[in-house]
Amino acid sequence: MLSNRVVQLKCGVKHDPWGKQGKESLAGHLWAQTPGSTGISEDETYSEMWMGTYPTVPARLLSTGETLENYLKRKPEVVGESVRQRFHTGLPFLPKVLSFSKALPLQVHPDKRLAEQLNLTKPEQFADPNHKPEIAVALSEFELFAGFKPLADIESLLAIKPLDQFIPAHATFDDELLRKICRIFLQLPPETVSETVSAVLSLPRKSFPPEHRYVPGLLERLSKQYTESDNGSLVAVLLMNYMTLQPGEAVCVPADSIHAYLRGDILECMARSDNVLATGFCPRPTRNNVELFARALSFKPHGPKEATLAHKKSEKGELGRTVEYAPPFSEFNVLATTLGKGEEERHKPIAGPSIVVVTRGNGEMVVEGEKKLDIHEGAVFFVGDGVPIEFMSSVGMDVYRPYAE
Ligand SMILES: [Zn+2]
Repeated sequence: MLSNRVVQLKCGVKHDPWGKQGKESLAGHLWAQTPGSTGISEDETYSEMWMGTYPTVPARLLSTGETLENYLKRKPEVVGESVRQRFHTGLPFLPKVLSFSKALPLQVHPDKRLAEQLNLTKPEQFADPNHKPEIAVALSEFELFAGFKPLADIESLLAIKPLDQFIPAHATFDDELLRKICRIFLQLPPETVSETVSAVLSLPRKSFPPEHRYVPGLLERLSKQYTESDNGSLVAVLLMNYMTLQPGEAVCVPADSIHAYLRGDILECMARSDNVLATGFCPRPTRNNVELFARALSFKPHGPKEATLAHKKSEKGELGRTVEYAPPFSEFNVLATTLGKGEEERHKPIAGPSIVVVTRGNGEMVVEGEKKLDIHEGAVFFVGDGVPIEFMSSVGMDVYRPYAE
């Protein structure tokens, strides 16, 4: 153990069917770099590596196997006063690396009020009373659906036959109408979904407005992944923003905001919760109630610009090689330090807990100005309140550091 404020972690990994296969998966690759790991099996998918204290996939101290959660309970001083008082937990956020080659379930995460209610009435399905706003930073090219398209775009797409049949008569095109259309799409019987998808696929390309020429291609792709009768395809392709992000670009998904990730490797960070309502791109028996889903929906963001989370240079990086993603919720921000060959960076002490994860390359980490450690892709550390950290690399290295203060 380095000091009681900096400990190396062994993280858990998940094998959801939408995860990338074997060595293709960055989540699996990073997870397998932990000392003592059994390595990657080409027969398995590796969807998510979790780096936090959530009890279903807990991170553990590499040296002793104790859960990080338990460790922080025993040593509350390493969390820091302000975070302990504000969040009453050791780590108020949950960082993950995700790798996926087909769509994740179409989902929203309930806000605090709904989460509390669901946790009380259905604790087996909603295991915590917290909200789960999240951000996702692209580590490779990242395709996704997030939030709704601008109303005018949806209106022009749904004016195309045979889609016009789903717009209620005499309706004003506003967010409440959008909620209704979403509910209609999600409640269509499987035959109607596949008839509609086939009808759209047989339309000439020029039937679609130029900025939406991608519609038939994407519908076809999702139909191959989840059958032509998956209600999620109509909602995602026709109503939601379809975006492709490059490494370093990010999206912000507030509570109650609709999203479905499609392809890529991402660093995800969210408030410490696992509550999800899903209604598409998952087996019918596991889908949540459409009525509940439609009621929970919020209409932020509208349009791809609003969904994007910009980053700016962080004053926490003393040598200027660190940017910061600061979403408009209080549980966390994320620092990203990018080092070229022979470069270094110093992080000022952070007044709260953080997680350090190396996603590319290798180098050294110096803790409190004296303890020097070799670090490499897949190394994950918990860093406690008030610890100055330096990074240096002769070959180049990317380090992400979600934190709370
Ligand atoms: Zn989500």
